[in-house]
Amino acid sequence: MAENSGEKPWYKQGLRFECTGCGDCCTGEAGYVWVNQSEIDAMAEVIGMEPAAFENEYVRKIGIRRSLKEYPNGDCVFFDAEQRNCQVYHARPRQCRTWPFWDSNLKTAEDWERTCQECPGSGQGRLVPLEQIEAQRKVFKI
Ligand code: SF4
Repeated sequence: MAENSGEKPWYKQGLRFECTGCGDCCTGEAGYVWVNQSEIDAMAEVIGMEPAAFENEYVRKIGIRRSLKEYPNGDCVFFDAEQRNCQVYHARPRQCRTWPFWDSNLKTAEDWERTCQECPGSGQGRLVPLEQIEAQRKVFKI
């Protein structure tokens, strides 16, 4: 990709994104929200629990990795369905913070188009410059 070739990526002019607060990225189909220890510690602090107890209650092991649990309908365990918001928003994991600027959504213009169809904030609103997109994309590989 651009990192190796020195060429600018297809989205060099930036991409539009402004969260509409729809909650769609926290709900729906079963999936994973990967977390590491420092993210667990930060969320535990927000909830007011010891990290070990928090992990026991809200985190599941997937092989050697850890993911937040979810409800049977696929909603993240921290998604408040009534308020339609995240209960640990200020300590939400990197995976949530960096949406939608993930490798998997940026590989090609078609991948971004698919993301825009799934997420009403993608492709709309504020123009996010390339530097900011790249900074987010590199935080978390997914
Ligand atoms: S941690 Fe918060 S932002 Fe991330 S998926 Fe769960 S509810 Fe959504």
